[in-house]
Amino acid sequence: MPTTVLMEELDAFTYREMIGRGAPVIVPVGATEQHGPHLPLQTDVLLAKAMSTRLAEAVDGVVAAPVVYGYKSQQRSGGGNHLAGTTSLDATTIIAIARTLTLEFARHGARQVVFLNGHFENYQFLYEGVELATTELKQRGEDVSAILLSYWDFVDDETIEEIYRGAFPGWDVEHGGVLETSLMLHLHPELVRLERVMDLPAAQLPRYDRLPVRPELTPISGCLSSAAAASESAGRLLLDRTSAALAAAIGAELRTASDLIPAHATPRFTTP
Ligand code: ZN
Ligand code: MN
Repeated sequence: MPTTVLMEELDAFTYREMIGRGAPVIVPVGATEQHGPHLPLQTDVLLAKAMSTRLAEAVDGVVAAPVVYGYKSQQRSGGGNHLAGTTSLDATTIIAIARTLTLEFARHGARQVVFLNGHFENYQFLYEGVELATTELKQRGEDVSAILLSYWDFVDDETIEEIYRGAFPGWDVEHGGVLETSLMLHLHPELVRLERVMDLPAAQLPRYDRLPVRPELTPISGCLSSAAAASESAGRLLLDRTSAALAAAIGAELRTASDLIPAHATPRFTTP
C-alpha cells in the first residue's frame, strides 16, 4: 500500500493501479499571491493541497500535483493584481489548464476528477475549462464526471461563531485574515511570522470594481482584514470541521457517480 496520496510522490505504476481501482483525482488549485507581511505567497496552494490531502485520504483518492498560479487577484477579494509578489494567469490560461488537466486524467483512466479551489478568483474559469472537457468527453462516449468546489464553502456558521465570536468580517475580506492565518499556523507554523501581522481595520471597499484600481483602497498590509486574532487551535478546528464536511458531501457525491458507471466499464490500464 502506498503511504502517500500525493501524485508527485507516487511512482507511475502505483498511480496507474490506484486510478485503475477507480480512485478519484483531486486537483488542488491555488495562486501565487501576496498575503501580507506574515504569510507566504503560496498560502492558497498550501491550503488547497492540505484540504485535498484530507479529502483524498477519506475517499481513497489521489491528489494531483497542484496548480500553483491562479487568476488575477481582485482588489475586493485579494487586494488587487497591482501588488508585488502576486503573479497571475489570464482567464484563457486558467480555462485551458482546467480543460487540459481534466482530459489528461481522463486519458489515464480516471472517471472522477475533483477541482478543489483555494483562490476565490479562479472559480468561474475552472468551471469553464471543466465544462468544455466534460462536454468533449461525453461526445466521445467517455463517462467522466467532475466536481468543483471552494473549500471555504464547507465552513459552517457554528464554526465561524466559535472562532470569531460575532466579529466575522465576511468572506470577501478574509484575504490574509484570521481564517488563512489560523490554518497556516496549524499546518505550516514555520512559514508564518505572526509578529509581523499588521492589526489594521478591515478594508472598506466599494460595491463595484474600477480599473485600473485605486491602490490606496487596499490596506497597506495587503490583507483585507486583520489576522491578529488567529490561532493554531482555530486552525485545527477549521481544518477538522471543513475536511469532515468535505469528506461527507464529496464522498457521497463520488459514490453516487460511481454507481452510475456501468459494471462492465473497465479501467483503461491494467498493471502488468
Ligand atoms: Zn489566500
Ligand atoms: Mn487568493
